[in-house]
Amino acid sequence: MTDALYMDDAYLQKWDAKVVSVNDDKYIILDQTAFYPKGGGQPCDEGIIRRGEDMFKVVYVGKFSGKISHEVEKAGLKVGDSVSCELDWERRYKYMRYHTASHLLSNILYRKANAKITGNQIELDKTRMDFSMNDYSPEKLSAFVDEANEIIKKNLPITIDYMSREEVIGKPELARLAIGLPKNVNRFRIVKIGELDEQVDAGTHIKTLIEIGQIELIKTVNKGKDNRRMYFVIKNIK
Ligand SMILES: [Zn+2]
Repeated sequence: MTDALYMDDAYLQKWDAKVVSVNDDKYIILDQTAFYPKGGGQPCDEGIIRRGEDMFKVVYVGKFSGKISHEVEKAGLKVGDSVSCELDWERRYKYMRYHTASHLLSNILYRKANAKITGNQIELDKTRMDFSMNDYSPEKLSAFVDEANEIIKKNLPITIDYMSREEVIGKPELARLAIGLPKNVNRFRIVKIGELDEQVDAGTHIKTLIEIGQIELIKTVNKGKDNRRMYFVIKNIK
């Protein structure tokens, strides 16, 4: 099993590793990695794997049968190689800011409108959230975004915790995704925003809310009560 370093330290950008398997010359498994594999609405990381002077660009990272596989641009890495790895940090950090921002918004949607998240997709230039919501209006969403920006100013800390399946089932607000909890998992990673929010989540997050900057609602779409949609961007506070 690869040690997924991003689970406990989202700010780790450089680390050493060993190549434990190579498939088709370009699918690499490492003994430990901070490359985030695509999942949970968060795109995968990109970056570089170095062996001495040799550089292998990481173009895709996915999780297959529980293993984190790194697709590199060229052949040459061998089992047993000692390598050093480095994330494209600008890309990853943007995803962290967007991911935490979407937790904050989903918290407000849930508390104020009993809305459940049915889908979300983080991108570098915007993030989309889909949700169910009975009493919907674009003005309401706009007010929720204003509230999120007020909460950001309080600069709450974001922390990681772990809970058993029983503990998670006892707190339904922990898993606001409409699809529910994954089966066959007994230890859940929890992402907390101060005392405000707790979510079952495997993504990477910032340490403090202020790092989000400011959230701006750019578009709302309404396709019925189970299918509302919003797009938002994050901006640096001037
Ligand atoms: Zn999340």
